[in-house]
Amino acid sequence: MNNIFVYCEIEDGKVADVSLELLTKGRVLADTLGCELEALALGHNLAGIEKELAEYGADRVHVADCECLAPYRTLPHAAVVCGIFKEEQPQIALFGATPVGRDLGPRVSSTLHSGLTADCTSLEIGSHTDVKSGKEYKDLLYQIRPAFGGNIIATIINPDHRPQMATVREGVMKKEKAKTPGKGIVKKVDPKKYVNDADFVVRIIDRQIEERKINIKGAPVIVAGGYGMGSKENFDLLFELADVLGAEVGASRAAVDAGMAEHGRQVGQTGVTVRPKLYIACGISGQIQHTAGMDQSSMIISINTDPDAPINKIADYAITGDVTEVIPKMIKYYKQN
Ligand code: FAD
Repeated sequence: MNNIFVYCEIEDGKVADVSLELLTKGRVLADTLGCELEALALGHNLAGIEKELAEYGADRVHVADCECLAPYRTLPHAAVVCGIFKEEQPQIALFGATPVGRDLGPRVSSTLHSGLTADCTSLEIGSHTDVKSGKEYKDLLYQIRPAFGGNIIATIINPDHRPQMATVREGVMKKEKAKTPGKGIVKKVDPKKYVNDADFVVRIIDRQIEERKINIKGAPVIVAGGYGMGSKENFDLLFELADVLGAEVGASRAAVDAGMAEHGRQVGQTGVTVRPKLYIACGISGQIQHTAGMDQSSMIISINTDPDAPINKIADYAITGDVTEVIPKMIKYYKQN
């Protein structure tokens, strides 16, 4: 049985969270299909990298350790990944929907003529019967993502080409060490076997990595405000509450569009996907484009004047009330306790 491959993004020896999320999901998919999970680690100074990848379920780790592969550049990485895939014939190949994955995934899929579903929010294994031919397909990768402006959730399949390829949004999958770690067997890859001089036409002379000023992605508690906050001044109440709770402040697109919050705080389909332990939605109606980015939160509390607001359908606790009355009471309470 052909295996599942995850391209792991590595920067200064650190594996990106999205890659560990994909390994966690890949492990589940591999167990469902009865195949193995393989990780690709391309970069420099990667000694011992297989240990962490095995903890997240990788059975085999293809390590291409070369100065020529760090930092990431499209052509050499694509050449090595395509070379490995041609030899190994994966049935599924997963990339993060990050700048690197969005650059690399399509190049690999077009070289291999395999197709790719971008920006998936969920992956499952399922079957399909072709309506015209009656042909049955088993063990397909369901590549699930919002479509038509987020109004429907589409399930996309690729019955005839391999690998079935997807990029997956950061933060939508859980990152969890495997109950039984993978075997973590290292397969050393000589990149020179796959790359040639033409792959190095781009030289990186200098790189500057900007720190993210707003970091809601990994925050355990998020206090998010919507259009119902009413004004930028009211929105400041959320920063006060967040301060008391040790939380980050998120926002709906309507709040961002109204100038109440910066775009970096936007949660949802065209913003960030989060899965905090606690998400407090203040004056947010709960349209699908918003909930797509936060419905995996462990606990959701909503504060809304409308008891029938859609957000209440997914909320664990719904407070019916005006944000300008409820939030100051919460701040006072948490300051005292
Ligand atoms: P509203 O829908 O206007 O809801 C305001 C809520 O506040 C209402 O439920 C109201 O009852 C309540 N309220 C009003 N006053 C008070 C008060 N004083 N106290 C308490 N409650 C009050 N949206 C996102 O959030 N993220 C995205 O990434 C995103 N991407 C999109 C992509 C596309 C292609 C499209 C078409 C839309 C996208 N949207 C996104 C927009 C989305 O469809 C909604 O318009 C948006 O989420 C609504 O934001 P809201 O809930 O803050 O505002």
